[in-house]
Amino acid sequence: MSAPGRGGDGTEPYRVAVSSDDGGPTAVFEHLWTPYRMAYIRGEGKPTGAHDCPFCVIPTLGDEDGLVVARGTTVFAVLNLYPYNAGHLMLVPYRHVPDYTDLTIEEVAELGAFTQTAMRTIRTVAGAHGFNIGMNQGSVAGAGIADHLHQHAVPRWGGDTNFMPVVGLTRVLPQVLRETRDLLAAAWSDHAGSSAHPTTPTEI
Ligand SMILES: [Zn+2]
Repeated sequence: MSAPGRGGDGTEPYRVAVSSDDGGPTAVFEHLWTPYRMAYIRGEGKPTGAHDCPFCVIPTLGDEDGLVVARGTTVFAVLNLYPYNAGHLMLVPYRHVPDYTDLTIEEVAELGAFTQTAMRTIRTVAGAHGFNIGMNQGSVAGAGIADHLHQHAVPRWGGDTNFMPVVGLTRVLPQVLRETRDLLAAAWSDHAGSSAHPTTPTEI
């Protein structure tokens, strides 16, 4: 596709967010937490039930098709199809529940562990300088898909992006996302479980 601004598969949301030419992460982050963008994830409007809920569908796909970075027991990590920034991950319980208080202790623990691993992985792979971590609870708070809670982990850089082009620039985003998924998935296991308590102390 040589003509900038056209071509591709015609999915318009890919071309939102960045208007300035130097478009670093800061340009993109003017749009952080804008609720309409989440509605674009994997198709159109709000799910009406578990069956068409994107966060219920994604785990049934292959890792590459679903952009799944890692799968845990109760939680999985997936790249946001319409990221606020390069490497924007979401940590999502498999269970279709809307509210943080609906989670079991085990799910809360694994969601936390996955969030830590996401941060470590993105720091290592992409040298993120900071993160925005959080979840929107309820439509009124900006959740595009309010019925199935999901935690955002959005890496931040101090003005440059050496990891990959930011959304809205000329590269074809689906390809970038696949490459990103591959990178993060390959590095994920190196950082899972390397937390507070040291694991696998190479016993003789
Ligand atoms: Zn769901």
